[in-house]
Amino acid sequence: MSREIDPEYLDRENLEKLQLKRLKKVLDRVYHKVPFYREAFDARKVKPDNIKNLKDLERLPFTTREDLRAGYPYGFLTSSLSRLVRLHTSTGTTGKPKAVLFTQKDIDQAARLITRSMSMTGAGPEDVFQNMMSYGLFTGGLIFHYGAERAGLLVIPSGTGNTERQIELMHDFKTTIVHITPSYALYLAEVMERMGMDPRGDFNLRIVYLGAEPYSEATKSKIEEIFSLDAYDSYGLSEMNGPGVAFECKEKCGMHLWEDNFIMEVIDQETLEIRRDSEEGELVLTTLNREAMPILRYRTGDLTHIYPDPCRCGRVHRRISRIKGRVDDMFILRGVNIFPSEVERILMGLPEVGRNYQIVLERHGGLEEMRVILEIKKRFFRGSLKDLKRLQNKIKARLKGELMVTPQVELVEPATLPRTTGKAKRLIDKRKI
Ligand SMILES: [Zn+2]
Repeated sequence: MSREIDPEYLDRENLEKLQLKRLKKVLDRVYHKVPFYREAFDARKVKPDNIKNLKDLERLPFTTREDLRAGYPYGFLTSSLSRLVRLHTSTGTTGKPKAVLFTQKDIDQAARLITRSMSMTGAGPEDVFQNMMSYGLFTGGLIFHYGAERAGLLVIPSGTGNTERQIELMHDFKTTIVHITPSYALYLAEVMERMGMDPRGDFNLRIVYLGAEPYSEATKSKIEEIFSLDAYDSYGLSEMNGPGVAFECKEKCGMHLWEDNFIMEVIDQETLEIRRDSEEGELVLTTLNREAMPILRYRTGDLTHIYPDPCRCGRVHRRISRIKGRVDDMFILRGVNIFPSEVERILMGLPEVGRNYQIVLERHGGLEEMRVILEIKKRFFRGSLKDLKRLQNKIKARLKGELMVTPQVELVEPATLPRTTGKAKRLIDKRKI
């Protein structure tokens, strides 16, 4: 891979030139091949030719998750069926999934972004990479796998689950890098300890890529400390070809969003107005380099902000903050907007708190209650009941101080709450039942 072909190091001016050139091609393609876009353009009295610069993007329609679902299975396709080589779907929602179709070029391009991202963190052919994400319809398994192979790493496609076997492979083949959800990483450490192994001393791990679920800086630090390695944030979504949309560099201050492949905007999710850099809002992405299914102004539902200052690493691709949560993850309790990731940030910042917790929302009579069930480190259970009570009150006060609602706090011993090998289910909303 030479730097002439890979625009990782383009300067801003040339990057934007490339974006505009690619955008024009995309517009022409979708206008002629996707009825949804033609109708939306016509309704706005816009033709692809009217888009003369990147600012004109605002004149184009958004694409929502509902639009993609309505277009299931082939509604957004711009290639002939004979050119398709892969289907992935998005995860985690009810009803019809969102189908994502790939030509060979699309697969190659998605893998290329993973290769670029991994190389950015210092991964290379000497590394042994264990991909502990679900293989199959979810993009986090296969797309990451292809990218890692392309970067020349030895890849162990272990997928999720079967934790003891995973640990054995990690140990025997001296795995140096893993790709994993944060909740599974914490569980993995627990199982290692139960097996009598030291997550630091008995393994060769040096890098972990975290993704696929929202998490806090405190959780990330905890993982770095437990395993003694560098954790990097990775961001992607199936609708945008999967992982590798944005990735942290060694500076670890936000994720570079690969702007040669995507145009990013951050909007106010209520008014749909464009937010300024460093203002939080919903991430909106337009694909620039996708053959089978180009998508315009896709509302990801993910909340983030753009860092306005340049990165010390010198790459001009702008950075986004770690995803704070999804627009639809936010819950409202007694009129207060709360993100589960906020609760997690507070909890994981407390030294007494263990690795697992659950938020339960209930309704008692007319009153809404939030119950936080927390695993507390073993040594705190050795103290008196009075000490526990004091700890309980401290956590309650901390949560109340930051969230503006008073939760019930329950302390439980380690390994009491259900474990997860995939995406964690931390929030249980019983109010709707
Ligand atoms: Zn950087």
